[in-house]
This record gives sequence, C-alpha cells and structure tokens, in this order.
Amino acid sequence: MRIESVDLFYLAMPHITDEVDGSQDTLLVRVRAGRWEGWGECEAAPLPCIAAYCCPSSHGVCKPVKTAVEGAVLDTPEDIRRINAEVRRLGLDLLQTDHTLSGIDVALWDLLARAREVPVYQLLGDRVAYPKLPYASMLLGNTPEETFEKARAICVDGFRAAKFGWGPLGKGTVDEDVAHVRAAREGLGKEGILLIDAGVVWGDDPAPAIARAQRLREFRLTWLEEPFRSESLDAYRTLTDLHPELPLAAGEGANNFALARDLVRRGGVRYLQIDAGRIGGITTAHQARLLAESEGITYVNHTFTSNLALSASLQPYVGVERFRLAEYPTEPKPLARDLTVEKIVPDANGLISVPDAPGLGLVPNLDIVRQYLVPVRIVAGGRLLYKTPEV
Ligand SMILES: [Mg+2]
Repeated sequence: MRIESVDLFYLAMPHITDEVDGSQDTLLVRVRAGRWEGWGECEAAPLPCIAAYCCPSSHGVCKPVKTAVEGAVLDTPEDIRRINAEVRRLGLDLLQTDHTLSGIDVALWDLLARAREVPVYQLLGDRVAYPKLPYASMLLGNTPEETFEKARAICVDGFRAAKFGWGPLGKGTVDEDVAHVRAAREGLGKEGILLIDAGVVWGDDPAPAIARAQRLREFRLTWLEEPFRSESLDAYRTLTDLHPELPLAAGEGANNFALARDLVRRGGVRYLQIDAGRIGGITTAHQARLLAESEGITYVNHTFTSNLALSASLQPYVGVERFRLAEYPTEPKPLARDLTVEKIVPDANGLISVPDAPGLGLVPNLDIVRQYLVPVRIVAGGRLLYKTPEV
C-alpha cells in the first residue's frame, strides 16, 4: 500500500499556563493507507511541527517532512525505517523535522500493526509484553508539606513508585531541596521507589548538583533525573564520576539517536528515558532500547500526555523483562486524560501492560478531538500550504 494522507490536528487546552506540564496541548497525527488508519502524537509544539510538515522547500536537504512521506510505500517495518531515514536526510537543515517525524512514525507503526492484526511490539520483533511497574509522575508541591501530601495520596492510590520534579527544586538552598526530597521519601514510605526530577535546573553547571549529591544519599533515590540539559554531557560525566552511587537518568530531551547514545556513553547516564513522540518515533525509540540492552543500562519510557502516547512509549521496550519501570502520568490535563476512550490502568498487582490489541491498542475519541481542536491555515505568498482537515 501507499501512504495516502497525513492529517495533523493541533489540540490545546483553552488556557495554557506556565506550569511545566506538557499535557496542555498536543499534535495528533492520523495517517491513512489502503483501508487502514494509524494514529500518533508529537510531544512537541504543535504549530512549528505543522510548519515543518508543509513549509516550502529551502534547498535540496531542507525540505518539508511531507516530501518523504506522502505517497511512500508502506508494506513492511523496513518501509517505516526507510521513510524515517529519508525524512531525516531531506530535513537535514530543518530543525523541527525530528519532532514532526515522531508522531508520523508512531502512526505508521500503529497503521501497519493494525493491518497485520498484531500489537506494535510484535511487529518490532518481541514475542512477549512484560507488565511494567508504573511510577506516578508528578510535579513537586510548592512546599515540603504539599509534596508530603502528594506522596501520601499516591500511596493510597496503590502506587509503589513515584517521581517528583520541577517546581521549586534547585531554585532555593540546598537545605530547602533536601526538605522536599525528605518529604517525598516520608510520604512514600521506606519501601517505595523514589525518583527525583531536577528538571534541567542546573543547566550545564555541575557544582550545585555536586553540592546536593552527598545529602541526597540517605533518601535512597533510584535515580536523579535531568540535573542538566541534555547536551551538557561534560556536566553529566563530572557528576557521575564524583558520585557513582547516585544513578542519573536523562534522555527525554533527546530528539535523535545520537544524543541518546552520547548521554549513555559520554555522560554516563544509567537510566535512558526516551519519548517516542520526540526522538523520531517508535523506530528511533526502539534503536535506543537496543542500545540500552547492549550497554547494560536501563531503558525507561518518557511520556507525559495521553494514553495514546503512553502506549507508543511502552511498545519499544515491553519485550524486555529487566526494564521494569514505566512512567505513568497521573495528573494530565483533561485534553490528555480524555483523548482516548480506552485507558491503560494498573491491574490488581499494580502493574500496567500495553493493550492486548492490534496497533497501539487505543484510538482517539473524535468528540474530544473536535472539542479541543485549534483550526490552522498556513498561507505563504498567497498559496495555501495547510488547512486543518476534517476530523
Ligand atoms: Mg523529566
């Protein structure tokens, strides 16, 4: 079959706040080929992604994403990998390419797996999908007391692992940070798996992270996430070498395989967190999972939006039993929460699994798509480049 259409839907909450909460908007992607349809999501700013899809060509390797997608042959996983590589080749000088490609690549895997009537992970070559231990992923409270209450509430909900991040962390004194982490540990209890996300607060300066590392030891963090920006590889290396007892996690900012590989090999990151909606789709996320296996470190999904994106983030690594943890957003905005009718929820053992169904196993609720749709028209030089299609 050939790819007949790629439709991009910009969805947003009515009011976008300054919270670091990526579930406030999304770019939903629908691909059609033959009699099949697949869906994906870009974890990126929607409008620039649409522009990267349809903008005029600037030169031979600065072409819009659509060039390598529309009309392409889609019969095998190799076809998806070829399209992925060709989009990158033709979009060499167009920086938004990877983010736009991500949602399209996810939709291509969903579509092809539906056509084959298998879940995506099987199309990737895995036979078994192992359940994962979901960690509740949330923002830190504004005060240690609020963080404590959030941690307590998440235990009551049955979670055995939780991540707290962003918010006030790293913005005050060392003592204030320690108070937050202590509150999270006390709220979660001795046995809970505690993860702390520094939200790139220290940029590329290892000193503030080093000042806190020793003090964090008593709270037995499974990882400290993103103390630095993704490209600050020297800072990651310095902290890792000085404090090997504090495992570092990063990777959500990686928008290509090379950056993910650098974080592991040069930065010494031990938990590689990959968002299929950013790194270039399921194709590239799966490549990163193979890297994690060969390097002996741990792969874990990154996702902070809908259950469609959650399923896409799980498929590349559900086949590996030892990669036990999974990010599980617990406080998404209504747009992300309601986007799919089917939900991925913890079972009686508190574990989550990908749906036992073809493709990603869930589809968007079109009423919700209509409710949050931001219609787009892009005109340049009097020529209509893009108009939001019919839902
Ligand atoms: Mg994070």
